[in-house]
Amino acid sequence: MRYAILGDIHANLDAFEAVLEDIGARGGFDELWCLGDIVGYGPEPHACVELLRRHKHVCIAGNHDLAAVGKIGISSFNAPAAQACQWTTQQLTAEDVEYLESLPLESKQGDFSLVHGSPRQPVWEYLISVDDACDNFSYLGTEFCLVGHSHVPLVFRQDRGGHCSGGKLSAETKLGCTGQRLIVNPGGVGQPRDGDPRASYVIYDSDCQVMYHYRVSYDVSSTQAKMRQLELPSSLVLRLTYGY
Ligand code: ZN
Repeated sequence: MRYAILGDIHANLDAFEAVLEDIGARGGFDELWCLGDIVGYGPEPHACVELLRRHKHVCIAGNHDLAAVGKIGISSFNAPAAQACQWTTQQLTAEDVEYLESLPLESKQGDFSLVHGSPRQPVWEYLISVDDACDNFSYLGTEFCLVGHSHVPLVFRQDRGGHCSGGKLSAETKLGCTGQRLIVNPGGVGQPRDGDPRASYVIYDSDCQVMYHYRVSYDVSSTQAKMRQLELPSSLVLRLTYGY
């Protein structure tokens, strides 16, 4: 089985479509695993929810999904995020809301746990350091964990002796999944934050137990034009150029 692993789509339909096209060109997928934040920041929340739901998939809730349907407040959001969230809420259909409300905070799929933030704090923790990852392995009930939230492609390993290591996941990396526990962030589809504006995702092939990390260019200026037209905050428009 081949799994497409995507996080932080953030209502960026151009990026989402480019990723799906890229996966298609690489042999396609059997199931899509989405790590939350389908909506928020970007210009096409409804279309992204709809496109995701057209595929066989599993998805867990991100903080922006929960905020868009009022399940959590926006007091911890910065001003542009809060403004985009309020706008997003107005764009969702009743069906979108029902779907987003139904998303669980975590999901177990075989040897994998899926969470937006971390095993310790499924919604909120930004898992970016080896020390934090090391602590989080003790909260993890499975061999592997997939996370989103930081929008940075990362891999953390714990060997059989309990030693942890890890760091940034480079593009075109092939990652063997045997002999170690792993926490992997596929990076962000719709708003990458690692200095590379290209959409980021992972394919997991369960037959050979290998993950592949890919980056995909998309029409950033098209997304930005839509955002300007909708008067979404200019800082959210600009950051897509640089991937921060
Ligand atoms: Zn996010």
